[in-house]
Amino acid sequence: MRLAVIAHDGKKAEMVGFLLQNKERIAKADIVATGTTGSHAEKAGLKVKKLLSGPMGGDAQIATLVAEGKMDLIFFFRDPQGKHPHEPDIQMLMRLCDVHNIPFATNPAGAQLLLNGWPIE
Ligand code: PGA
Repeated sequence: MRLAVIAHDGKKAEMVGFLLQNKERIAKADIVATGTTGSHAEKAGLKVKKLLSGPMGGDAQIATLVAEGKMDLIFFFRDPQGKHPHEPDIQMLMRLCDVHNIPFATNPAGAQLLLNGWPIE
């Protein structure tokens, strides 16, 4: 499973908690993350590959991986209360997931359903 994780600032703790709760399920996943989300995950003991921070192009990097067929699953816990300068990059990522039919969850409930449906290898 090639998984990308991204969380807006107001959702980073929720993302880390979600990943820890699902530690066994994601144990064999190759996880990439936007920079700051990745740092939070690392501090919690998770192994992730960190890309650029979202506002610096991290979401665009993940979008590129989607376009290249190198991603299986995207979790992007978005903060619906916040404004984000890199909104165009986020839209691009969502669009490319739709273009390539890549599952994309924007909150823990959706992410949990996707993980539960993923075969454990
Ligand atoms: P960050 O980026 O993990 O570097 O904070 C997340 C985002 O795209 O907002």
